[in-house]
Amino acid sequence: MKGDLIIMNQTRKVYLDYSATTPVKEEVLKEMLPYFTEHFGNASSLYSIGLQAKDAIEKARGQVAHLIGADPKEVYFTGGGSESDNWTLFGVAEQLKNKGKHIITTKIEHHAILHSAEFLEKQGFEVTYLDVDKEGFVHPEQLEAAIRDDTILVSIMFVNNEIGTVEPIKELAAIAHKHGVLFHTDAVQAIGNVPIDVRDLDVDFVSMSSHKIYGPKGEGGMFIRKGVQIPSFIHGGAQEKGKRAGTENIAGIVGFGAAAELAEKNLEYHRKHCSELRDYLIDQITARIPDIIVNGPEDHSRRHPGNANITFARIEGESILILLDSMGIAVSTGSACSSKSLEPSHVLAAIGVHREMIHGTIRFTVGDFTTKEDIDYVVECVEKVVSRLREISML
Ligand SMILES: *Cc1c(COP(=O)(O)O)cnc(C)c1O
Repeated sequence: MKGDLIIMNQTRKVYLDYSATTPVKEEVLKEMLPYFTEHFGNASSLYSIGLQAKDAIEKARGQVAHLIGADPKEVYFTGGGSESDNWTLFGVAEQLKNKGKHIITTKIEHHAILHSAEFLEKQGFEVTYLDVDKEGFVHPEQLEAAIRDDTILVSIMFVNNEIGTVEPIKELAAIAHKHGVLFHTDAVQAIGNVPIDVRDLDVDFVSMSSHKIYGPKGEGGMFIRKGVQIPSFIHGGAQEKGKRAGTENIAGIVGFGAAAELAEKNLEYHRKHCSELRDYLIDQITARIPDIIVNGPEDHSRRHPGNANITFARIEGESILILLDSMGIAVSTGSACSSKSLEPSHVLAAIGVHREMIHGTIRFTVGDFTTKEDIDYVVECVEKVVSRLREISML
């Protein structure tokens, strides 16, 4: 068995990186296709095919709004989750800079938030990055202690993309509002994975993305609560009520709408399917491979249903990833955005994982198309790869 596993002539393909992106579902693609060809109209035009396009956008707006319990008038289409995050931070900063220049976020946000916050720091804003505990939870009393008279925005992600922690958003938003501060949540990993009702949560801004919920890439959305003021993100035409100019990506919007409707309909099934397979994966790996740590919340009801983040002691995550790839398996080390850099994951660092252990960490995320046979195959391959790499690293 030794030495024979590096390149296997394997035809089986298993994708376990659903938090990086998802395939567009057939039903979604079918809705989108006519908008590339037959219904190619510009939604700003006043003749029939233009009006058809406009209707399609408004239908999608209703579908996305319904998924999060919003009024359709509160939903704006954007070019993805990163754009929505940027819009919120730069928009609120611009809108309220005369009121104050302090923003609160966390150490475990997506880079679309962290890098925007760092950019604002260079413009003279002050940013507090809240700590999280060893499971990745933000503590409400720490948020309360960080709020100042000049705080203008609190931005805390709903579900962490690396370790799957589901933050107590309702409690956190209530604290911000008690002090008259606007609250934003990056819900890119939350929509379609946990139930969301913006009225119940009482939040002001929500970032969403289409490609994490079986819709097309390059499309996203933003919830802006009625009555909350924020400047336009792109200046030009009157699209999106003048807030985001440019001819709409109609096919993308239609796809996002269809994906949102499907996600809402399938939510319970999706949660059950993913969490069962995820738990099975964790149980099997824990039973068969020594010296591992499962990162993120132990209470799986407070965890993304598809997320398993596992540290394998004494080996490099990159080597595991490459060997698994040669066996047809796609996983990631840390988050997709940091996988090309050697910087250890900021999320794992924030929960206190040691530097060399961070480098031995793999994120597995299961989704709607994952099967039990896929997991059996992955566990078998991970077991072989890990024991082989540990043999080499012992030499
Ligand atoms: C993927 C992701 C984003 C970025 O969304 P894009 O649509 O790819 O720009 C933002 N935040 C989180 C938590 C994500 O997982």
